[in-house]
Amino acid sequence: MYDKINANKKRRVYKLPELKYKRVLLKLSGEALAGEAKHGIDSKTVGEICDQIKGIVQMGAEVAIVVGGGNFWRGRNGKEMERTTSDYMGMLATSMNGLALQDALETRGIYSRLQTAIEMREIAEPFIQRKAVKHLQKGRVVIFACGTGHPYFTTDTTAALRAAEIGAEAILVGKTIDAVYSDDPKINPNAERYDHITYLDILSKNLKVMDSTAISLCRDNQIPLIVFGIADPENMVKAIKGEKVGTLVKD
Ligand code: UDP
Repeated sequence: MYDKINANKKRRVYKLPELKYKRVLLKLSGEALAGEAKHGIDSKTVGEICDQIKGIVQMGAEVAIVVGGGNFWRGRNGKEMERTTSDYMGMLATSMNGLALQDALETRGIYSRLQTAIEMREIAEPFIQRKAVKHLQKGRVVIFACGTGHPYFTTDTTAALRAAEIGAEAILVGKTIDAVYSDDPKINPNAERYDHITYLDILSKNLKVMDSTAISLCRDNQIPLIVFGIADPENMVKAIKGEKVGTLVKD
């Protein structure tokens, strides 16, 4: 691991005044890692996302990631199964994505730590809030896997929870779509694209940004969400600079 890093080691370049958000939490759905196949892990896609993460880390941003697992398994896939069992399978799926992200970040010379809400000490640290913050302060990317560790939740809710716990100033929601719309723009060409929207509007219009528990948690803790297209390599940098990108969700 360290060999990989040292081979790519470059001096970190800090340009902090440029940053609107210094500590951010990036929510990546499992599907975002799957590329065209929509299932499993596409190394090229993961690499492209990690190039963007490297870009913002080198600008001085402190970056935590919550990764989903829908590219392997979602709780609702297990129709014949007990819900809790199926949810635990979904949580385990996120750990594979976490490992893939960690590997791709290290290949790019970025130090990272994988922390899981279900202990798997041979491959990851357990989630410890103080330790996570310490890693961030040292410039390491912290990847949170296994969701909250509890069934009946999602990794969207995990993103809101971890963002509050680590004091993230914003949640970057990298999507396959470029912003929040009133309807699916692929199906409805008249769908309205929002530059700004409030948490309450998302809940009342039942927009598919994040699930309602996650949105409520963000609202309660006043954590802004920036929803943007993950495919555009400029977007993450624009988002942490506070430039207009995708949709800004706040009151
Ligand atoms: N999950 C869970 N508790 C959590 C987070 C996730 O039970 O705190 C399970 C749930 O079954 C979910 C699956 O893990 O469907 C994968 O997470 P999610 O659907 O949020 O992944 P994404 O859609 O972001 O890829």
